[in-house]
Amino acid sequence: MKPSTCLATAAASVFLQLAGATAVVDTAASSAAKCCGIIETAFPKKTYSSGNQRNLYQQFVNSYFSVNDRLTPSCAVSPANTQDVAAVVGLLAKSSCQFAVKSGGHGILTASSNIAKGVTIDLRAMRSVSLNKKTKTAIVQPGAKWIEVYKYLDALGFAIPGGRAGDVGVGGLTTGGGNSFFAARYGFVCDNVKNFEVVLGCGKVVHANNVTNPDLFTALKGGSNNLGIVTKFEIVAFEQSDLWGGTAQYDAKTIPAQLEAFYDFTENLVKDPYGSLIFVWLYFPAIKSLVIENLYEYTANLSGPVTTYPPPFKGFAPDSPVGPPISNTLRVTNLSSLTGELNSAANLSNLYATLTFTNKLPVLQEVVKIINREFDVYKKNAFYEYASVEFQPLPRLFTDHSLARGGNVLGLDRYHDNNIIFLLDMAWNGTQYDAQIRSLADNVMGNLTTYLKGVGELKDFQYLNYAFQDQDPLGGYGKAALSKIKAASKKYDPGQVFQKLVPGGWKLATAGTGNKYTH
Ligand SMILES: Cc1cc2nc3c(=O)[nH]c(=O)nc-3n(C[C@H](O)[C@H](O)[C@H](O)COP(=O)(O)OP(=O)(O)OC[C@H]3O[C@@H](n4cnc5c(N)ncnc54)[C@H](O)[C@@H]3O)c2cc1C
Repeated sequence: MKPSTCLATAAASVFLQLAGATAVVDTAASSAAKCCGIIETAFPKKTYSSGNQRNLYQQFVNSYFSVNDRLTPSCAVSPANTQDVAAVVGLLAKSSCQFAVKSGGHGILTASSNIAKGVTIDLRAMRSVSLNKKTKTAIVQPGAKWIEVYKYLDALGFAIPGGRAGDVGVGGLTTGGGNSFFAARYGFVCDNVKNFEVVLGCGKVVHANNVTNPDLFTALKGGSNNLGIVTKFEIVAFEQSDLWGGTAQYDAKTIPAQLEAFYDFTENLVKDPYGSLIFVWLYFPAIKSLVIENLYEYTANLSGPVTTYPPPFKGFAPDSPVGPPISNTLRVTNLSSLTGELNSAANLSNLYATLTFTNKLPVLQEVVKIINREFDVYKKNAFYEYASVEFQPLPRLFTDHSLARGGNVLGLDRYHDNNIIFLLDMAWNGTQYDAQIRSLADNVMGNLTTYLKGVGELKDFQYLNYAFQDQDPLGGYGKAALSKIKAASKKYDPGQVFQKLVPGGWKLATAGTGNKYTH
């Protein structure tokens, strides 16, 4: 009798060996071609490569947001449903074929959701969204973009926490945590998942929720692609009408006042959790201009126009020391409109790197001094499209919501203070600049790390979805959280398919072993 899951039991491991699902890697190109042959035989119309359905293949390659991940795999397969995914994983595992898992393709790192020699499982065809109004549950497939989710739910007067840029995919953002406009009300996006439908490494489909496979459930909330392929997310939905928000642009001379307002906002979010803020510092060499752009969202249900800034944003109001913005898009509108506005330019090379530090005004001021100094160097090197840094509040409140919903593996429960997520975001055109960009980024991150470590305000947490290739976000979750992911990996993926055959993304073997910017 076949076991109903591939749990690591004696019976299961016999089954796995019979099924050939214990991962042994063969990376040779000939082996990748053989793997594509197997997949193409099973899914002739759903497999594409440079020699088969070339147009679809090219569209697939171009569907990655960043050129970083526009690798040309030996082939890509586009499952139509969960059974297809299960069959594909079963076949790949049985033949020890290397593969990658792609949902929205907004992962910035090279090969995080694509593979040079191997098969990419392209989940774009699995993008349905539905809502059970009675149970207030949205059922979302991983290949959907957030804009599609919001458009569907807007029309029904509902929402779920999700990405703030509409073009980002559901699969990667949610399995990596997920910061949203609603984090101060409901925690991370992953905390709002009631049930994951998952294809395990042996090709079995299981559910993970509070009752069934609860250890897998917790580990999937931050465990990224280490445990299986999530084929369905059931997410708690809530009623949501129009909300206030948009972007506001300011002159750089407002920065000192902005920092005070940002610090206060983060400290006081607990008093009015409908607020959401991102403070962006954006430099465009083409126009030699540094712009401050704040993203404000107030998620309370609103019906009429808003004439004054909602309470959490008083520190940024036109009559505050920050003063009126130079321009803004602030309005009362729906979630699709607000998230449609926040997409970034695609088709470029990109670098993300992240840090977390304590929300203390003198620390924030010193961090900005360091960035200012580094940006003087940036200004002399005008070979990129833009360079930006973002500050995002990470108050303890987010974690309290996570814990109230059963907890995740992000490890943020270690912190009782309010923190800030820092993101360095650079985009450029042309791989000839890669090394220069890398060196600029290393200087900023290195100097910030040295300062923050020196004053004892650097936190180990590095948001996985923003981390640079030399960082260690899984290690940054802390030993206790990491051991939960490792235990779930051993139990639910005894053949270690997602460790050995899926090389892309953040892997458990290297987690906790080193980090460019903290060790
Ligand atoms: C313009 C932009 C805006 C962003 N805005 C936000 C934001 O508001 N909030 C936020 O938290 N983050 C944000 N991010 C970061 C974002 O969360 C990550 O880039 C995320 O990985 C994107 O998910 P994806 O499905 O599009 O990516 P993909 O590149 O498809 O996948 C990323 C990783 O997730 C894995 N994965 C994908 N699908 C699955 C699945 N179904 N099961 C298991 N593993 C899977 C992949 O294998 C890969 O390792 C943003 C990024 C960009 C570029």
